[in-house]
Amino acid sequence: MIRINRMIQVHFSRYIMFKRLLTAAFLALLASAHAGAEEQVLNIYSARHYPSDEALYGEFTRSTGIRIKRVDADDAGILARLRAEGAASPADVILLVDASRLWRGEAEGLFQPIKSPALDAAIPAQWRSQPGADGGTAWFGFSTRARVIVYDKLKVRREDVDSYEELGDPKNKGRLCLRSGSHPYNLSLFGAVLEHLGEQKTEVWLRGMVDNMARAPQGGDTDQIRAVAAGECAVAVTNTYYLARLMRSTRPEDQTAVERIGVVFPNQASWGTHVNVAGGAVARHAKHPANAVKFLEYLASSAAQEHFANGNNEWPAAKGVKLDNPALKAMGGNSFKSEAVPISVVGRNSVKVQQLLDRAGFR
Ligand code: FE
Repeated sequence: MIRINRMIQVHFSRYIMFKRLLTAAFLALLASAHAGAEEQVLNIYSARHYPSDEALYGEFTRSTGIRIKRVDADDAGILARLRAEGAASPADVILLVDASRLWRGEAEGLFQPIKSPALDAAIPAQWRSQPGADGGTAWFGFSTRARVIVYDKLKVRREDVDSYEELGDPKNKGRLCLRSGSHPYNLSLFGAVLEHLGEQKTEVWLRGMVDNMARAPQGGDTDQIRAVAAGECAVAVTNTYYLARLMRSTRPEDQTAVERIGVVFPNQASWGTHVNVAGGAVARHAKHPANAVKFLEYLASSAAQEHFANGNNEWPAAKGVKLDNPALKAMGGNSFKSEAVPISVVGRNSVKVQQLLDRAGFR
């Protein structure tokens, strides 16, 4: 009798164990199915505010079934938000529009390393962050923009402004309109110049520009172009797409402005024109990291590159993607010489540049 009881007990405990295993397996299955459902979403924090990008997001959702939720803010706002949200951040993909900001996000550990053979193959090393110790890449540039000089054709000879160095030359005294030196576009330009000229000469150059200013730094790139066209100053610096926007505008005042100004791709006889990037990264605490990489890989495809770059009058960053943009062509900017300093180095230099700006009294 005792033996029979014992046998029943053993069978019963085996049965319980089996049932537990079955339940565990069922729960695991349920969890993975649930994770699969989550996988159909992608949260993007974007500093790009170009209507043409909408088509791009729509196309990604149609081809992958992954819904995109987007938060729009400027570069600084996005980085601040990521810092504040920490591990609770819903952000998967981060899109920023400048190398020094991308570098800042990387330096603060706000991104996670990307390992994608497709991206490594598509985006030249020049336009992405340097690989980390683990072989991952913190961010990739997806479009490029040149930082060019514009001048008043009535007052300035082209040969007096065909290099960045000349912006700090006394011959251009009282002519210069610039936005804040601490704006990322200028931090990156100055970071490139620092790489070429070294610290001492760069500081002298920055002081020279402060001496040459027609007014205190203010406004954005378009404001500088308009100030030149209005005769308030005679020389300014702008990203190419702002210029392209004015060139493609049908408003009479924009056309009048464009007629008055000349455009120079600086330093064609030396180290080349400074080129910046707009780029993307995967957020450190991404809840959908696979979708995030998929999206960045999609941005490197030729169809997306055309939207992404052409929509904002930029140049594609991916290898082998051609672009036919009338405004960029009219600028003569399809075959200019661009500088060869890796954009990651330019971004890193922004810390040093900020110190030089402070010393030079460049606000
Ligand atoms: Fe911009």
